[in-house]
Amino acid sequence: MIDTHCHLADIKFEKDLPAVIARAKEAGVERMITIADSMDEAEACIAIADTFADVFCTVGVHPHNAKDWKPGDAERLKEMVMQSKKVRAIGEIGLDYHYNHSPKSVQRGVFLEELTLSREIGLPAVVHCREAIKDIETIVREVEPLQMVLHCCTEKWEDIAWLIELGHSLSFTGIATYPDAKVIRRTIEQTPLTQIMIETDSPYLAPAVHRGKRNEPAFVAEVLRLVAKLKGVSVEEVEEVTTRNAVEFFGLMR
Ligand SMILES: [Zn+2]
Ligand SMILES: [Zn+2]
Repeated sequence: MIDTHCHLADIKFEKDLPAVIARAKEAGVERMITIADSMDEAEACIAIADTFADVFCTVGVHPHNAKDWKPGDAERLKEMVMQSKKVRAIGEIGLDYHYNHSPKSVQRGVFLEELTLSREIGLPAVVHCREAIKDIETIVREVEPLQMVLHCCTEKWEDIAWLIELGHSLSFTGIATYPDAKVIRRTIEQTPLTQIMIETDSPYLAPAVHRGKRNEPAFVAEVLRLVAKLKGVSVEEVEEVTTRNAVEFFGLMR
């Protein structure tokens, strides 16, 4: 298993990160991708990935933080990619019209720039979307990224089928295990297993059985079990295919 999206640089992991990573490995999580949401967190993610052999990372600025984007930041991200072999994608980037922590037009400009950067430097993109799928589609069709994953997918199948047709991937979190998440479970049923990845988005969004607790990479097995149930195939098969998907996406060949 690979937890393709966790935030190990989050303050909630500050006190016990080595124990969190050890528990993940004990639970069968071989690798973790720690995801950045700002320039500072990108530096922190690189430091963590450089410390722990089985942790890889992304660099990028989250739509919440788009307002802090400065001229020259794309260049800085490029330098960070060169700085460590553990950087495997640009992310998380995208649009979030739910919270609007940054103005929509600013979010769109920064997303366009970061997605273009990912294409230029030949890295995949980890994309965040909330209540913004139409504008995500417009920008993705314009930039034509090499490979992207829409992470923590909560979209209706009808709204996201275009991304699957383009050959991109969806990744799902513990949210899909919540009783009211029927829409997400239907999207999982429709998405080919070869285009699915699993993640925790920890420390947030603990799966139903751990709801209310801090989430951590060890809990990604809950998402795996749910996908297996929805697809009507064995947990082993889903583990094998989603691990292969993640290994290919993030270039984790042994
Ligand atoms: Zn996100
Ligand atoms: Zn995230």
